[in-house]
Amino acid sequence: MKRLLIALLLFLAACAAPMQPEDCFEDEFYDPVDQVCYLACEDDDSCQEVEGGFGSWLGGFLDAITGSVYDLGETEEGEVLVTYSVADGNIESPTYADAMTDEEADIQEDEDQHTVMWLEFAQIIPSEQRTLVTQFGVFSDGQDETLAFVQPIDDSPTNWMLAMDPNDTRDKSELTYTLIHEFGHVLTLNDGQVPFDETAYFAEDDETIEAAEAACDGYFTGEGCAGWDSYIGRFYELFWLDIVEEHAEIDPEDADALYDFYTIYEDQFVTDYAATNPGEDIAESWTHFVLNEEPDNDSIAAQKVLFFYDFPELVALRNDILGRVYSQSRR
Ligand SMILES: [Zn+2]
Repeated sequence: MKRLLIALLLFLAACAAPMQPEDCFEDEFYDPVDQVCYLACEDDDSCQEVEGGFGSWLGGFLDAITGSVYDLGETEEGEVLVTYSVADGNIESPTYADAMTDEEADIQEDEDQHTVMWLEFAQIIPSEQRTLVTQFGVFSDGQDETLAFVQPIDDSPTNWMLAMDPNDTRDKSELTYTLIHEFGHVLTLNDGQVPFDETAYFAEDDETIEAAEAACDGYFTGEGCAGWDSYIGRFYELFWLDIVEEHAEIDPEDADALYDFYTIYEDQFVTDYAATNPGEDIAESWTHFVLNEEPDNDSIAAQKVLFFYDFPELVALRNDILGRVYSQSRR
C-alpha cells in the first residue's frame, strides 16, 4: 500500500522531458521522433508480462484522479494565446494573439513550458497516430475549468488543433487522462470517420444545422454525418437510440439538468461528464478503455468500454499508449 503511494507520488511529480536512448531501461524501446522510451511486447509471453504489469498498475490509475476532469469542447475565437504549427513531431513558428493582461503576456513568453506541454501529448500518443493534429495552442481560463480541448482548424478543418492550459497541467494523472480523452475526439470525429460537412459546421443559423441533421442517415456530430459503420455512429446506434429523445429535451447549458439525466442512467455512463452528449460519452469510454482493466461486469457503462475491444486497431493503439504512459510512470 505504502509502495503504491510512493510510486504514485513519483508519477505525479514527473514532468515531461525529452529522453535519450540511454535513458531507456533494458526492457524498453526508444522512439526517436517523440524522444521517449516505451514498453512493447513482441510475442505472447512478453505481451502477457507487459500486460500483467499494466493490469496491476492500472488498477490504481483512475482512482488517483481527483477533481472533475472535463473539457468544454469549444472556446471562443481569440482565446488561444499562442498557436504553433506541428512539423516532424515538434512545435514551431508560434503566432501570438493580443494579450489582454500581464498574466496572459507571461503565459505567451514561456516557450519552454509550451514545449514541455506539447511533449506531454507527444510522449503519450505515437507520432503516426496524431498526424491530424497539425496545430498546438496555449490558452488559459484560469486554474481548473478547461485543461485542454481539440477543435478542427478553421481554414483547414480536416486537421485539428490541440490546446492546453498551463495553469492546469500540474497533476500528471489528470493530464494524462485528459490528453487521452482529447485524442479520443480526434480519433472518433476525424474526416476519415465523419466526412466533414463545411456548410453545417460553419453555419450560424439553426435551419442549416437542422437540415443537415435531418439528411443524416447516422448520427450528426456537428462536424458531419457519422455513418453507422463509423466508431461513433456504431456507438450511438448501440447505446443512445433509446435515451436520445429524453436527452434532447435538456438544455446543453443546464449543468443541473444534465446531472439529473446522468443520475437516472448512472449505470450507463463511465463518468457524469460522459452523459453530456454522445461525443463526450465515446471520448470518456475510450479513455476508460485505455486506462482501465477490461471490465468484468455487464452494465451498459462496461459494454461501452468493451465496445473498443472489437476493433483490433484500437486494441493495438491502447497497448501503444499504455506502453508509453507506463514507462513514464516508472521514472
Ligand atoms: Zn471532450
